[in-house]
Amino acid sequence: MDRNPLPRLNTFAGLSHVLDRVAERRDESMWVGDLAASAQARYLAIDPLGETYLHPGRPALRWLDVAERERWLGDLKASFLGFAHEQPRFLLTVDDDARAAELATLLDARRASLREVGLQLPADEAGLFAYGKGLAHWQRETRHCAYCGAPVVLVASGHRAQCTNNDCGRMHFPRTDAAVIVIVEYEGRCLLGRQAGWPKGRYSTLAGFVEPGEALEDAVRREVAEESGVLVGEVRYHSSQPWPLPQSLMVGFTAKAVSPEIRLRDRELEEARWFTPQDIVDGLANGSFLPSPPLSVSYHLLSHWLQQQAGTDLDTLVAQYARR
Ligand SMILES: [Zn+2]
Repeated sequence: MDRNPLPRLNTFAGLSHVLDRVAERRDESMWVGDLAASAQARYLAIDPLGETYLHPGRPALRWLDVAERERWLGDLKASFLGFAHEQPRFLLTVDDDARAAELATLLDARRASLREVGLQLPADEAGLFAYGKGLAHWQRETRHCAYCGAPVVLVASGHRAQCTNNDCGRMHFPRTDAAVIVIVEYEGRCLLGRQAGWPKGRYSTLAGFVEPGEALEDAVRREVAEESGVLVGEVRYHSSQPWPLPQSLMVGFTAKAVSPEIRLRDRELEEARWFTPQDIVDGLANGSFLPSPPLSVSYHLLSHWLQQQAGTDLDTLVAQYARR
C-alpha cells in the first residue's frame, strides 16, 4: 500500500499513509472516552456548511485541543476519526450557525471550504478535512430511520446511526455514492465534453453515477454512450478520489473507444469533442481551452494522458499560461 504506482496521488487520497482509523475499536466507548480526554487529543470542528477552521495566516487546519473543546464545545459528542501523527483525532459537528460563527472568533480562525483549500493544505490535512466533512454531512442528514421514521442515535463513535424504535432498531451506515470518471481515447485523441453552465473553454472528462446492478466498467460504457454516443471497448482502472461534496467517491478510468462518432444523446453536455495533445497545448496557449480544476481527478486523468501521449506536462503548461 505504501508504493503508489501513479505519478502522484489524487487530492484527498492517500490518508492510509498517515491515519489509522482503528475502526475495530469504535464501539469501545470507555477506550474512546479516555482518548478523547487525553492531552494528545485534537478536535476538528465542521460547521453547518461543511466548512472548517483554519489558522488565519497560513494554510493549516485549526485543531482544537482538549481544553478548548471543553471550554467551547464540551456539550457536543465527538466522533473518533483515528490516530494521525500519534494523536487521537476527533470530529465535532457544529450544527448551529451562530455558534459556528462565534467559534471562528474564539479560535481567531478563518473558515474555508474543502474546494477552496483542498490544494493549499498539506496532503494529510486535506485528507483529514475531507474525511471529517464527509462524516459530518452524513451525521446531519441522518436524523431519522429510513425504514420507520423514528429518530436515530449515533453509535460507534459517530460512525453508525441506530434507530431508537425497539420494534425496528435498524442500523444505518455512512453512505458513499460511487461515480465513474473516464478519459476515453481513440487514435491519439481524447474525448472531453462541456456543460452549458461551465466557464468559457472548460472541458472535462465524462463522468456519472453508478446505478444499481452495474459494474464500474459497465457504468463507464453506459455513461460515455449516453453523454456522447461514443462506444467504448477496453476499460482500465486508473485511480480514485474521495469526493465528499457531499458524499461521492470518484473512480477514475482510462478507456479506448471502438466507435468514435459523437452524438449527444441525453443533452447533459452542450458539446463533446476529440482533442489531440496539440489541440490542448494550443488551446491553453490561446485561452480557448481550460482544464478542470487541479483538485479534480479529471485534471489528473488528462495530465496522465498528455504525459503518456506526448510527454507533455500539464502542470507546467497551466503555470505557464496562468498569468495570461
Ligand atoms: Zn427504524
